[in-house]
Amino acid sequence: MLSYRHAFHAGNHADVLKHSVLVAIAKYFHKKQSAYTYIDTHSGAGVYKLSDDLANKTQEYKTGIARLYPNSDLALISPYLEQVRVLNAAQGEEKNLQFYPGSPWFMTELLREQDQAHLFELHPQDHALLEQNMNTGKQLKVHMEDGFSGIKAVLPPQTKRAFIVIDPPYEQANEYKKVVNAIEQGIKRFAVGVFAVWYPLLNRNDKQGMSETMVDELAKTDITKYLDVRLWTSKQTQGMYGSGLFIVNPPYILQDLLNQELPKLLEVLGLDETAGFSVDYVEK
Ligand code: SAM
Repeated sequence: MLSYRHAFHAGNHADVLKHSVLVAIAKYFHKKQSAYTYIDTHSGAGVYKLSDDLANKTQEYKTGIARLYPNSDLALISPYLEQVRVLNAAQGEEKNLQFYPGSPWFMTELLREQDQAHLFELHPQDHALLEQNMNTGKQLKVHMEDGFSGIKAVLPPQTKRAFIVIDPPYEQANEYKKVVNAIEQGIKRFAVGVFAVWYPLLNRNDKQGMSETMVDELAKTDITKYLDVRLWTSKQTQGMYGSGLFIVNPPYILQDLLNQELPKLLEVLGLDETAGFSVDYVEK
């Protein structure tokens, strides 16, 4: 059963970490002219209106993007904020933060004409919104299919390079295992791909430690190098207190960029003295 709607969470601190890192990786891909394929296994709706009933109910964006917008001169954050400004300006909002982009919007806006994208989304409502919010066509395909198995059909890609983002809701306990399987399958099909897995850090009895166990299992798969980045705004928050990204074949610039910028980002997003971050790079 699909009950998760990303609109409740759009623009929160976890989205800030995820989307700023995704944009940094896209910029890295653009350093070479050769085409790449962007694959989003769990896309969501693509664009969120922060004043709508869902986003407004939780107001999670106040823990994230609202603390940074409209300006920040952090090297990690500036290119990401620029994209949020582009979306708001396109909607006629030059100054105010009214709209927040999802991963497919951030990443397909940045595609060059030689690049391609495959976006997967299973929820009927969010799939319809995604179709509406994206410029679908030859370059960009939206699939109403299971992203975990859909990945197999689009890998290896037609292009020589690919960036694959795996960002499930983790509402069902078996999704943690499915992520590990997806990485195993993905690496078998395209060992040189850059894969980014997002995961929550949870203070919740029913799911305590499940993300950490998943990361341990991911580290044991047939991958040769990965970067694991985590950022938490307060260890005292009940529920999701932080988040992480496990990145397979990370761009070499990322580790230094994160170590340099995350302390400054925490100054803005941290809620108390228990806020923190970690960046671990492993080459086997
Ligand atoms: N990646 C999006 C972003 O950063 O803007 C957010 C994605 S949200 C965390 C997860 C999405 O996955 C939800 O929209 C949900 O409907 C969808 N979903 C859940 N299970 C799925 C599956 N097996 N395949 C594809 N989409 C799925």
